[in-house]
Amino acid sequence: MVLDDPKEILFLCALQNAVKHGGVPQAGAVIGMVMGAHPELRSRAKEVSALAKDAINAVATLSPEERIAMLRTRAPDMFDALSDRHEHKKVLPDLEKAENGVVMRFAPNPSGPLHIGHARAAALNDAYVKQYGGRYILRIEDTDPKRVDPDAYGMVAGDLKWLGLGITETVTQSDRLSLYYDLCRQLIEKGGAYVCTCNNERFRELKQAGTACPCRGQTVAKNLGLWQKMLDHTFREGEASVRIKTDLSNPDPAMRDFPAFRILDLPPHPKVKAHVYPLMNFSVVADDHLLGVTHVIRGKDHIANTRRQRYIYDHFGWKVPVYRHYGRMGIEGVVLSTSQMRLGINGGTYTGWDDIRLGTLRALARRGISPEAVKNAMLAIGIGDTDISFSWDNLYAENRKIVDPVANRYFFVSDPLRVRIEGAARHTAHAMLHPGDAARGTRTLEFEGTVLIPKSEISEGVAMLRLKDLFNVRVAWDNGTPSFTFSGDSLADARAARARIIQWLPAQDSVPCTLLSPEGEMTGACEPLVRKELNNVVQFERVGFARIDAANASGIRAYFTHK
Ligand code: GLU
Repeated sequence: MVLDDPKEILFLCALQNAVKHGGVPQAGAVIGMVMGAHPELRSRAKEVSALAKDAINAVATLSPEERIAMLRTRAPDMFDALSDRHEHKKVLPDLEKAENGVVMRFAPNPSGPLHIGHARAAALNDAYVKQYGGRYILRIEDTDPKRVDPDAYGMVAGDLKWLGLGITETVTQSDRLSLYYDLCRQLIEKGGAYVCTCNNERFRELKQAGTACPCRGQTVAKNLGLWQKMLDHTFREGEASVRIKTDLSNPDPAMRDFPAFRILDLPPHPKVKAHVYPLMNFSVVADDHLLGVTHVIRGKDHIANTRRQRYIYDHFGWKVPVYRHYGRMGIEGVVLSTSQMRLGINGGTYTGWDDIRLGTLRALARRGISPEAVKNAMLAIGIGDTDISFSWDNLYAENRKIVDPVANRYFFVSDPLRVRIEGAARHTAHAMLHPGDAARGTRTLEFEGTVLIPKSEISEGVAMLRLKDLFNVRVAWDNGTPSFTFSGDSLADARAARARIIQWLPAQDSVPCTLLSPEGEMTGACEPLVRKELNNVVQFERVGFARIDAANASGIRAYFTHK
């Protein structure tokens, strides 16, 4: 940016300093910054020093949010310089064998909508495909009909559209059963799998003891015959399964001859007519191989599966992808279990999958969290294998960066107190729609004598208030009852008296507004213009950001996003 006005340079340096350190900047520091960045002003040092105080005072009148917004709009490069140094933008670590491009996948089960936990795998894989170039496969893993919710196919697709991933192709495993059956036959022919007709209890005992079950030694021909009986439905549920031959001496019994296919008589699959289903380890390996997946990034909870899956790769002689397993992520404050959510929805505790007490992506969207913020928060968490707890504050910080420059500002008055102000003539207040972007214009609030103010701002002892963008009010107390009188326009007077600057609404021109958060609801009123912001995130000044969810004759419903 080329600047030649020392006043503007001083103001921006003071602003940058205040954003960086908070509080009121020191004159010396600001002058030093100016001289460092603009050596041409050194010959005008006296003039610059004389102007510094005004610049600092101007910055001091701004709220922290206003400072950020203004710096971002008026000097984006100074704003960026700040964030580069302070946010420690985390770059994902390199992946081995990725130089020539990658094929990666996101593989959710369609048992409900996606939640924050899913977003991590979705965002990390996405970022790597973008980093290295290649294909990003969405694989819908629906081979367990007990865990398929027919509505989830559409919900998952909608959630991913919202998240905005670079998916290049989509496959659904229930469309691919014949491929798995075929590979199963091949694996039996190779001697890598067998059909086991032991009852579960018996098999478990033998497995614990590291002993082969009688089926393990069957000939290939016998296994193929039994496999055919599974496919024919001659065998019913629980009577037979296909097992992968692993190592019976593996110290971990869970690795020993794990199942690859099972029979389920019920429930019917919503998409295909079938009763023989691959278990996850088989279908995942089959598809990772068939689809050419080069790198798999998934949670640590899959480490045991990775070990199991290696046996299948080895039997087939297939190339194993590169795996990275990230640590667990505890998420507090919201419900994440699909079954718990479903129960709550059916029982009427939650309004639906986007109830803001849930951890679904649609609940986040409803609260005004942007998909970019979700992805950025996940990339910041990264693929480290240490267990962490998810930080809502970090998500909110990411979201604030996105919504702050966009959100228009309005007044919301919680729990309003109707107050008559004596001695004030009619006044028109012009409040900026956005403090950092004058071009957006102003809202007009007409003062006609009576206003609504937040009850919480009035407590005995308060002597003066400033109604933001309007004027000052003197508060007198008589036996605990306040009365309010006009007390001039001067912002400087209000500052000198340390008067609180509060939001207000013209009593004759406001709309009832309910602000909901996971913790509960706040009733109040807001400016009528907010009606025009349906589905947008706005900032209710000094309250926080909120997404306008509904606007009808009875008023406005907004969801609190964050401070
Ligand atoms: N569908 C599996 C899950 O959601 C993912 C399997 C995998 O990533 O390998 O847990």
